[in-house]
Amino acid sequence: MGRLFAVEIVYRGIFQKKLAANISRGIVLAAHLDGKPGMSFGRYGDSPERNGIPAKYFAIVADDELTLEEGMAKYEPKEVDVTICVDDTLFKGVESWAWYGLQPINQLTKPNGTLIVTSMEPPEKLMSMAHAKTTPYNLAIVKGTRSFSGLWVYKDDHSDVRILGAIAKVLPEMVSLESIKKTILTEWHDQVKVASAEKSYKLTTKVPVKPGSGNQETPYRFDLPKWHEMGEGIAIPCITAGKPVEDPTTHVQGGIRPDRNQVFKKFSTRTMRPVVNFETCIKCTLCWLQCPDTCFDVTPEGLYDANMEACCGCGVCEAVCPVEKCVTMVAETEFNDNASQWEMWRKDSTGYLTWLNQKIEHRPERSHGFRYLGQYKEQVGEMLQIAQEG
Ligand code: SF4
Ligand code: SF4
Repeated sequence: MGRLFAVEIVYRGIFQKKLAANISRGIVLAAHLDGKPGMSFGRYGDSPERNGIPAKYFAIVADDELTLEEGMAKYEPKEVDVTICVDDTLFKGVESWAWYGLQPINQLTKPNGTLIVTSMEPPEKLMSMAHAKTTPYNLAIVKGTRSFSGLWVYKDDHSDVRILGAIAKVLPEMVSLESIKKTILTEWHDQVKVASAEKSYKLTTKVPVKPGSGNQETPYRFDLPKWHEMGEGIAIPCITAGKPVEDPTTHVQGGIRPDRNQVFKKFSTRTMRPVVNFETCIKCTLCWLQCPDTCFDVTPEGLYDANMEACCGCGVCEAVCPVEKCVTMVAETEFNDNASQWEMWRKDSTGYLTWLNQKIEHRPERSHGFRYLGQYKEQVGEMLQIAQEG
């Protein structure tokens, strides 16, 4: 039996679908040129693709057909040589649809395997977000902003070919740079993309990650119901209405916090989260009305507090809020917890405003929405500059 190589690509559903498919397909086509058979496939069953929700592609490559067949007999790899994460906010963990609970991003990465990520963040910041592992592995960073080369709009910023260049660097036993370059030329007919892959191959470096380093929290989990525990028929019990919210300083009760699904918390489904300025809010209700995930808790004084258990980070509230900088979407990498912003403001309004201004000062521009003509063109230019200059 020969050697089996497994690569998983963790991406945000819809936004990054084409990007992930290009990487997975590119690996397998290049491996074929090196004489190795392989399969590229997306895992759909338990990860219905919704905007921004984590999903996975896999590329399985083997030394020979029999080894590949043996490997493919397992529906999904239990461990992989390389994990590719095309959105660094997923370092907080992956919440696959109602299956695993919160799965650490490095869960499947083999001992001494490699986690490749596209990011502008330094290794220390990325590692502080990723759950600690008991075995060593490597972190490889492909420098770049978050790429949203999705299902409907393909932002051709070279992220796909740059990751292909990086994979030839970290796993040359699986695929050679020469074959990656030939595949890119055959598939994209673009010599500049070949140069991008080559540059990424040269610039990608690996940082060793020691066992035990990283986020020490235990990822939450839940037990799937047994078949004999399921209710009869197809009736699904409704979620109860919820309860009033208590002011942490005056203990006045009022407003409402709707009850929410206890097992589908959207902690890591976001690339960004809304930060609310409660001082300038005019209580127009638009954010509450338009939020597609019923995220807003209504406070006793009638303000709207985006609840981070429920928020998927779509940015609709920012788009509909009529007051300038009252709701601002900020990169999820800037936060360490999911606490209530309103409670923070009620306890210390001056401190909260300082915190808010710091958060919104360096926010990156939203990049998973098509908001004005020419937006993607601008962003592609920035990415190509990073790709060329390193
Ligand atoms: S970003 Fe705003 S609108 Fe979107 S889910 Fe979160 S709170 Fe709701
Ligand atoms: S849309 Fe803006 S101004 Fe209106 S209630 Fe929400 S936060 Fe306040």
